[in-house]
Amino acid sequence: MSEIYTTDSATTSPVRLGVAGVGRLGEIHVRLAKETENAQLIGLFDTDQERSQRVAAQYGVQSFGSLEDLLAEIDALCVVTPTTTHHAVASAALRAGLHCFIEKPIASSKEEGEELKRLAQETNRVLQVGHVERFNPAFLAVRASAPEPMFIEAHRMAQFSPRATDVAVVLDLMIHDIDLILALNRWELPVDIRASGVPVVSDEIDIANARLEFAGGCVANLTASRISRNPMRKMRLFAPDSYISLDFAEPGVEIFSISDADGTENISSMLGAIELGSRNRNIRYERPMVQKLNAIGEELRGFVEAVRVGSPPPVTAEEGIAALTVAEAILEQISGRVKSEVRS
Ligand code: NAD
Repeated sequence: MSEIYTTDSATTSPVRLGVAGVGRLGEIHVRLAKETENAQLIGLFDTDQERSQRVAAQYGVQSFGSLEDLLAEIDALCVVTPTTTHHAVASAALRAGLHCFIEKPIASSKEEGEELKRLAQETNRVLQVGHVERFNPAFLAVRASAPEPMFIEAHRMAQFSPRATDVAVVLDLMIHDIDLILALNRWELPVDIRASGVPVVSDEIDIANARLEFAGGCVANLTASRISRNPMRKMRLFAPDSYISLDFAEPGVEIFSISDADGTENISSMLGAIELGSRNRNIRYERPMVQKLNAIGEELRGFVEAVRVGSPPPVTAEEGIAALTVAEAILEQISGRVKSEVRS
């Protein structure tokens, strides 16, 4: 996706970073920001000042008493606050002339996301969205082979936690798979969306299923739940000659593929052969090497690099808005269904 970046924000000195929101994920950002090359973590701010001071003391950085005080001391802010606050916190940072990394989803509505993108363009600042599964070694291993799946099945199940119940599971968990599926479909938006979901323990949708159909014929079936007993993060891709299974939690990849036998096959990856009349086809099984890397550390490294060089970030605001657009369409479908069920 194209966004215009110029290089006048490029810098050779370390990027002075701050973190807003040091809950479960924010604390991880603090730890990894401290280890990020070419960055210097200055401090953090959390509305829960007791927590802010405890985390700051643990990592040897300053706890600020207000967001404004933190913004005055840094070049770039990581926004790791609840989704419903992303717009307020990130727009304050962008208006103060800072670069911004925002945890996924970019905001709680497409309009808010568009406004953040506009602000970043007006101020010529880098705006990156935390779609971290893009940096998952399993996805990196598969994306390198540019698969063209016709059917995708995604399952993302988590155990219940009161955190993130400010938004539906579609914005909390399913959005990861929406982003990956858009990336696999070259950022085309689906032409048809069918969805269903229910609130079970929270006031928002806790379990949802969506079927996305793309103009090129690819169909994706996504299921996300935050009330599951057994956590799971898996995706399966079906292409005419291959089946790819990704486990984001492991992380690991399995590829089964079929091709005409021509005598040059690598025997070590052969699983078997099928005779179809005069045609002999070989079935191969491979487990590609997945790199050992910390996905959050990688996305932060990409953000700092984009700030330093003045280049597009690895996950742009436009991509974050595309994922949010699909998530909102899914939620609209679900609320239409819930309303019609209530009426009948
Ligand atoms: P959390 O509830 O554990 O932490 C949020 C923190 O933000 C709390 O400490 C809270 O006091 C603080 N806070 C609230 N409003 C604030 C404000 N206006 N300014 C400063 N601090 C404020 O939540 P979490 O699980 O850490 O999630 C935070 C964000 O990270 C959410 O947007 C969520 O969607 C995202 N997240 C992403 C992933 C991922 O895989 N990328 C995983 C978990 C959470």
